[in-house]
Amino acid sequence: MGVFIVGKDYVVVVDSLSTVGLTQRFKDEIRKITDKPIRYLINTHHHGDHTWGNHVFAGATIISHDYCRRELTEAGMMDPNLLNTIFPEFDFRGIAVTPAGITFDKQLTLHMDGREVRLLYFGPGHTVDDIIVHLPQEGVIFAGDFIFLYSTPLGMEGSFAGWLKNLNAMAKLGARTYVPGHGPVCGVEGLKQCRDYLVLVRREAKKRFDKGMTVDEAAKDIDLRQFKQWPNHERILFNVERLWREFRGEDPATSKLNLAEVFLRMDAMVKAGEL
Ligand SMILES: [Zn+2]
Repeated sequence: MGVFIVGKDYVVVVDSLSTVGLTQRFKDEIRKITDKPIRYLINTHHHGDHTWGNHVFAGATIISHDYCRRELTEAGMMDPNLLNTIFPEFDFRGIAVTPAGITFDKQLTLHMDGREVRLLYFGPGHTVDDIIVHLPQEGVIFAGDFIFLYSTPLGMEGSFAGWLKNLNAMAKLGARTYVPGHGPVCGVEGLKQCRDYLVLVRREAKKRFDKGMTVDEAAKDIDLRQFKQWPNHERILFNVERLWREFRGEDPATSKLNLAEVFLRMDAMVKAGEL
């Protein structure tokens, strides 16, 4: 979800969208509200649904974590054939992957007409490079993909242990309003629902890892309870794949999943009624 902050002289946007068309529509919506220049575009992490429209905000300075720039530069654009298989409803033409011009490590603060816009990095979570945007005066957090709400969390690239730690650190900031990367704006109860999913999946996966089950066996066997109702519950396969690496002590920065392979396996398991 892209969001934006309108200041006295300029606008700050948080995340672009996955296609040129969607990002242009987002920009058009901003323009209905303000004609002030868009000075900064913050990327919460490198995933394409948060960055592939970056170049539509030409003229804005892009800011991200150091690792977000690195991951986006290394990953480049996904194979168009695979993308069209996964997301046939979207048009991915015309994308020019554009990483940030300014990067930071732990914290960066924008001072926007006396309002603080704090960019905070807590360590690997949903990916290795997620940041949040905290407006302390307003009590608002743009949580990026640290929060999925009524949409199954996808933890294919980061650390579940880190993600849980980061959610607790985020909750300690005491914000009243959270803007998830996927799902409706919420209070702290939304953060807790996402945390409950991660706790459930990590705990149930660990039991099955210790029994020596395979990833596929565990993904089929885990009872997701209330989260079975959330869209894309089959993402459990990606999450268990990640967790198996985590339980083996592998570093998420170097131990990467073959996303295409896992996706095609997941698709086949869904079609076979196994997930
Ligand atoms: Zn993401």
